This record gives sequence, C-alpha cells and structure tokens, in this order.
Amino acid sequence: MSDYKLNVVVAGGGTSGWMAAAAISKLLSDKVNVTLIESDEIGRIGVGEATIPPLREFNRLLGIDEQDFMSSINATFKLGIEFNNWGRKDDSYIHSFGVTGRDCWACDFHNFWLKGKNEGIVEDFGQYCVELQAARHKRILGSDQHGVNYAYHLDAGLYAQYLKELALKNNTRRLEGKIVSVNLCEKSCNIKSLSLDDGMLVEGDLFLDCTGFKALLIEGALNVQYEPYGQYLPCDSAIAIQSEISGEPRPYTQAIAHDAGWQWRIPLQTRVGNGLVYCSRHLSDENAEQLLLKNLESRPITESRMFRYKTGRRIEAWKNNCIAIGLASGFLEPVESTSIHIAMSSILRLLRLFPVDKTFSNTLVAEFNQQTKTEMEQIRDFIIMHYNVTERDDSEFWRYCKNMSIPETLKHRLELFQQTAAFPIMEKELFKIDSWIQVMMGQRLVPESYHPIVDLLSKKELEGFFYSILTKVRSSVENMPGHQDFINQYCKSKEAEGLPK
Ligand SMILES: Cc1cc2nc3c(=O)[nH]c(=O)nc-3n(C[C@H](O)[C@H](O)[C@H](O)COP(=O)(O)OP(=O)(O)OC[C@H]3O[C@@H](n4cnc5c(N)ncnc54)[C@H](O)[C@@H]3O)c2cc1C
Repeated sequence: MSDYKLNVVVAGGGTSGWMAAAAISKLLSDKVNVTLIESDEIGRIGVGEATIPPLREFNRLLGIDEQDFMSSINATFKLGIEFNNWGRKDDSYIHSFGVTGRDCWACDFHNFWLKGKNEGIVEDFGQYCVELQAARHKRILGSDQHGVNYAYHLDAGLYAQYLKELALKNNTRRLEGKIVSVNLCEKSCNIKSLSLDDGMLVEGDLFLDCTGFKALLIEGALNVQYEPYGQYLPCDSAIAIQSEISGEPRPYTQAIAHDAGWQWRIPLQTRVGNGLVYCSRHLSDENAEQLLLKNLESRPITESRMFRYKTGRRIEAWKNNCIAIGLASGFLEPVESTSIHIAMSSILRLLRLFPVDKTFSNTLVAEFNQQTKTEMEQIRDFIIMHYNVTERDDSEFWRYCKNMSIPETLKHRLELFQQTAAFPIMEKELFKIDSWIQVMMGQRLVPESYHPIVDLLSKKELEGFFYSILTKVRSSVENMPGHQDFINQYCKSKEAEGLPK
C-alpha cells in the first residue's frame, strides 16, 4: 500500500480537465502521477462564466488566494440571479444565495411570512434576505470574514489558464496533442492507453474523460449511453457573444425569459458575457441571433458563437477505469450556473471515494455512479421547475413548458408545497430550501396554507419578529460598499486598470 501510486490520465484541458488535474495533483500528490492531454487546435468550449458559492470551498481546498484569483480572471461578485419574465411577462425576482428570514424547529420562514402577508404586516419576501438586498442595491462585502454568501462571474478562458498554472505547479505533466485513438485491453475492456496524433502512446491506470461534449473515452470507446432530459428541458441551442462593459457591474447574473428560451447577462470587470438559450423547434438560429443582438446593452466585441447541445446525463459516469467529468458526463443547461459545480462535485466525489488500489471494485464504482445520478436528478428537478412553474401561455414554447409532464419526484414536492407550504430537502442536496422557495414564490407558486404553529404568535409578536429581521438586513446592507468600489480596492484586474497583464 505505501508504494501505491496511481497513474491518472486526464483527457481534455477545459475547465473540467484542469480543475481535476489541479485538485488531484494538489490533494493526493504522493499517491498519483497526473498527466493531462489537451489540444490547442481543438480548444475549449469557452463559455461557463457564472458560478455558485461552493466553488469558494473548492478554491480554499486548493489554497487559492481569492484576491489573486479574482484579479487574474477579471472576476466580479455574484450574489444570485435576477429572473425576468419567467412567472409572467414583466415579473422580476432574484434567486439569491442568501438565507431569507429565520426559521423555527417546526417550519421555515416563509410560513411566518405567509401569515404576515394575510395580516398585511410584511414587506416583500426578498426584503428579509441580506444577499438579495445587497444585490438589489449593488453592494457587496466579499472575503470569508463577513458571512455574505456569494460566488463569481469569471472569464472562462482565464479561469482554465489559472487552474492550469496551479496544476503545473503541483507537478501535473501536460501533453499537447490530439487524441486519435483510445486503446482497450481486449480481456478487461479497460482503457490501456491513448494514442496521440504525433504517434505518442499515453498509458495509465485511471482515465478521466474531460473531452467535453465529444466524450471520446466514455462514449466513443466504452459506449456508455446517455439518458436524455430533452422532454423536460426543451432548450437545445445557445448563442453567445461578448459586449463592452456598460456601467457598474451588477453583482448578479440576469436570466431574461423570451418567447422560446432565455437570455443571460454576466458582467465581468472588463466586458459582459451574453447569450441566448433557446429551443430550436420554436426559434430559428437566425432569429435567435437577431433577438440576442437586439437585446444587448452595449456594443458587441466578438463574433457570436452557436452551440447545439443535448441535456441529459451519462448512465454510468464511471465505467471500468474511466470516469467522465464535466460536459462528457452530462449537461443540464446554464440557467442556474450548475455545470462547473457538477464537474467540481464529481472531482470531490472521486477524491472521497479514491481507489485504494488499481483494481476498482464494482462496489466502489456503483457508489460513485449512484451518488452522481442522485445529484444530477436533484439539480435537474430544480431547473425543470423554472420552466414548469409559470403562468405564461403566450407562446408555444411556454405552453409546452407549463403543461409538460414532469418527474414524479418534482411533482410530489410542488404539490406538497402548494397544499401545505412544507418542502422536504434531502441531505446533501445542492439547492436548499431558500433557493426553492425564492424560485417557486418568485414564479407565483404560493402555498394555500401555512404551518399551524405560526398561529401561536400574536400579531404584535409577529410584527416584532419581522421588524427585528428587517432592521438587521437593512443595517447589514447599508454598511456594505458598492460593488465597483469593493472590486476596485479588493481585486481590480490589471486589464480593468488598463495595465499590461
Ligand atoms: C451555452 C453554454 C453556457 C454555459 N454557461 C455556464 C455557466 O454560466 N456556468 C457554468 O458553470 N457552466 C456553464 N456552461 C458549462 C461550462 O461551459 C462547462 O461545464 C465547462 O466549460 C467545462 O467544460 P469541459 O471542460 O467539460 O469541456 P470543454 O471546455 O469542451 O473541454 C474539452 C477539452 O477536451 C479537449 N479535447 C477534445 N477532443 C480532444 C482530442 N481529440 N484530443 C485532445 N483533446 C481533446 C479540448 O481541446 C478541450 O481542452 C455552459 C455551457 C454552455 C454550452
């Protein structure tokens, strides 16, 4: 056991590949040799710029200094996502990363708020959440000391580069070249080696397929199938374009629904990332591009790029001695910025379930696959809810979404919430109660009732309860600097300063 060293080969150098290489080479340095193969000619997907808060944990694990990280990749702060036109046209709400109000042993805050609303003694639900109010007022207090829950908007290209430098420092070996064949052992069907276009043969014990939508190893060689989610998530296309900065960056992503999809705006320190996610059955590529261009807030600085994708998940993310990570293992869609997170989570899962020898037991593989499936399905349900919980019926696309059949798991939860205001959250579920409630109520799914314990409080006690939360939220937000001011003093990038990089 003490001499045991695993040769890990990472195929692909996109965000997933470099995240995997950086983490494994740092955290298991004595137990692994890591080799990463990437092809500059093929390149990376180049989108994936909005993140969610657990990425900060990952960075801490890797010993990354936040200020250096943010200034190197032109990052801004993200406190949540503003959804426009989702429940109804002209509706707007923020799904923030914060906790709203205070819960009690029997029920969550929204139960108190629902009663307060009946009594006419509450402000809007979002007024009771620090992160949401900070987002609305374009304020932020970053770093770990202040207890604000946030994530980042970042430049995808610079992010992969940042991770690459980190991985190379931790002795990851990088090989440039195109993988032209995946060679299997005839007997075990394990991957023996990868052949590169210059004739080089790269052998290994464990292969991570990070080749993006191509899924060269897991699908190309091992033929692992894909479970499609297209019946629930009908968008299958996207167009992305970058534009100039326009004023102070918002500390949140925008997701603006249109007739056959939605548009994102992701503000960085030096530019804005824009894109339109749409359903090709209901909108042509030409019209999608025109719609996106028409709705830019500033002048475009790149050509637009088109993507076609299939939402779904790899049935076995781990097969034989190959694990698919990132887009090779599945894709939901970007509305809740979950893809980089899912890649990160697969990497952490692998680290937790790291093989103790070079034979990978069926039990170990089955555990990894079960955890991956559970995670994908939980996040999938959360995303489906954005499309299904709507009153919109003004286009074919929205009529489909509103009336489509949804997974039983989700149906049960939505019904339970509507009838009782209860909402069960599974252990380790990524999106917690606060996220679900903000989106459901933001899209007008309001419970018919609330938990009876709330009636034990008198109107006066309830008023005092709401007032104390409101006062705390307001004073926290008032004491925060503006987003741009905080970036300027904490993490302004050289590029944003106009200095050479
Ligand atoms: C429209 C859109 C918007 C998105 N927005 C977000 C977002 O806001 N937030 C988020 O978290 N995620 C988002 N994502 C997902 C995000 O882009 C990916 O999760 C992330 O970039 C990781 O991609 P990857 O590394 O798996 O794949 P890729 O970036 O495609 O990397 C694949 C790698 O494999 C290499 N490769 C492929 N074939 C070969 C070969 N034959 N030989 C050698 N190398 C090869 C490529 O060169 C590349 O290095 C979005 C995705 C799309 C499509």
